[in-house]
Amino acid sequence: MKKIIVTGGLGFIGSNLIDLLLKKNFFVINIDKATYSSNYYNVKEFKKSKKYKFIKLDIKNRKFENILFKYKPNGIFNLAAETHVDRSIDGPAEFIRSNITGVFNLLEVFKEYTKKNKKAKLVHISTDEVYGDVLKGRSKETDPYKPSSPYAASKASSDHLVYSYVRTYNLNAVITNCSNNYGPHQHPEKLIPKLIYNIINNKPLPLYGKGENSREWIFVDDHCAALFKVLQNGIKGDFYNIGSNINSSNLEIANQLINIAKKKFKLGKNVKIKFVKDRPGHDVRYALNSKKIIKEIKWKPKINLSNGMNLTFKWYLNNQKYFSSIKIKEAT
Ligand code: NAD
Repeated sequence: MKKIIVTGGLGFIGSNLIDLLLKKNFFVINIDKATYSSNYYNVKEFKKSKKYKFIKLDIKNRKFENILFKYKPNGIFNLAAETHVDRSIDGPAEFIRSNITGVFNLLEVFKEYTKKNKKAKLVHISTDEVYGDVLKGRSKETDPYKPSSPYAASKASSDHLVYSYVRTYNLNAVITNCSNNYGPHQHPEKLIPKLIYNIINNKPLPLYGKGENSREWIFVDDHCAALFKVLQNGIKGDFYNIGSNINSSNLEIANQLINIAKKKFKLGKNVKIKFVKDRPGHDVRYALNSKKIIKEIKWKPKINLSNGMNLTFKWYLNNQKYFSSIKIKEAT
């Protein structure tokens, strides 16, 4: 049986990726520091599985190396990171520690490990935010990085570190840059689960500025399927954009969620869009050109925005215990 390490597997994308890997009969070792954004609710289904092992560890801990030599995985998906842009503005230090120093340690231990296990592969998961504001057109893998927030800059730094280890030490690694994900298991400090929580709980729906910021939304299962294909067929040292090619403004997303909710229950009086002061350095638009992964790796997204949003709304509605397992004050 093939073994894989997923870092950050208690979080949103990591837990959805573990679900996919277990279904594909992998043995999965989940390494996660269990920060505020993680949630054991996300992995409750796997806990009974003999193919799943959780290890609480910071990726910057050198003990990571012992885990690699003990379990001898065929690969690592690195998703562990601090991920909330607003938090990176209030306190960037933790973003530098986890997203840069953490990745540096991961690269060092993986370098040692692959001296003996040459075929093992690292898939480093990054974001479209590294390209910065893209007012027109769509970012290609060859476009320069121009991150606007400490979060995006920390991710950009980690991507550069990974690439440098490929060039300098011949490390077997690939880098993926994905657009905004949505779906089950996402912390309600992020836009879509926050709006859903507020709709269900009869609260106003806060949007930055005039709600015009545009993002390319991809359903999390599509992202995970792309990551799996990159593990199998991604070329060492290559970057792969992963996106749906569909952009929506935050206002359009909020209205779409209101319309979904209206079909399910009578909305409370307070469920109204409320424009709030914009955050500093807020990029207007991100958009990816994902032709490379579509052509070279034969992946394409399967779930359109309307189906994905319906599935997502339904999941949060049916899993309200998910919200109660989080300090919900942060989400309102
Ligand atoms: P998340 O915040 O839901 O989960 C991150 C997980 O990483 C948490 O469980 C946390 O405990 C863990 N973690 C944080 N620091 C750690 C450390 N030092 N050591 C070990 N574990 C640590 O984030 P997510 O949305 O699932 O994002 C996962 C990855 O995907 C991140 O690298 C993020 O940059 C990238 N990404 C996210 C999106 C998105 O829209 N969510 C889009 C593109 C890329």
